[in-house]
Amino acid sequence: MNLILLGPPGAGKGTQTAALVKRYNLLSVCTGDIFRANFNAGTPLGLEAKQYMSQGLLVPDELTVRIVVDRLNQPDAQNGLLLDGFPRTVYQAEELEKYLANKAQKVDHCLLLDIPQKELMVRLTGRRSCRSCGRVWHLNFAPPPADLTCPTCGGQIYQRDDDGEVAASNRLKVYLAQTQPLAQWYKDKGLLKTVLASGSPEEVEKAIRLALEEKDQK
Ligand code: AMP
Repeated sequence: MNLILLGPPGAGKGTQTAALVKRYNLLSVCTGDIFRANFNAGTPLGLEAKQYMSQGLLVPDELTVRIVVDRLNQPDAQNGLLLDGFPRTVYQAEELEKYLANKAQKVDHCLLLDIPQKELMVRLTGRRSCRSCGRVWHLNFAPPPADLTCPTCGGQIYQRDDDGEVAASNRLKVYLAQTQPLAQWYKDKGLLKTVLASGSPEEVEKAIRLALEEKDQK
């Protein structure tokens, strides 16, 4: 099964990715993580991507598609994908469709995590993340340990610079303008499943399971 996880920044895509990967035995490919890992390693790709990411803008389509294709060409990516944060534009979705069709594959479902806009800024600006493994906390809802050391991997817990007020608000605008139209694009193909994502991670996980197991939504 190839799954796309769509939703605004702060909807909980990363949290649900962890559960979905386990349940359906998928490989997660998260473009944000790939860009951050490249930046941390000081690669030219990472440095280029950072210029856009720190302002809350999308990395240009061609660069993004190139890194995703590179990742999907690797041997461990041949069976069952969970794409988190990709595609984010109709161009990317079209390129993905062509790429998969060449391998006689397709997207099976696009899961939209739907959440009222007003909850998102609180979620984003209160979010804290592990610099090494990407695990997330929230200052109000799930506070990180006082010493800001990740209990999973020992990495440093920090606030992503694109979770600050200005970049976070830009990311929401960019989502509405460039990524939200993808929901209709996948709906027209009969692939969209919409799940309300304002509940606890467990509630959302359950709603996703029910949505994936029900017959296709009209
Ligand atoms: P995320 O971790 O998914 O919130 O992504 C962080 C940032 O990485 C985004 O705000 C973009 O700057 C960049 N990014 C991630 N995925 C994509 C994509 N599919 N297309 C363009 N830029 C992306």
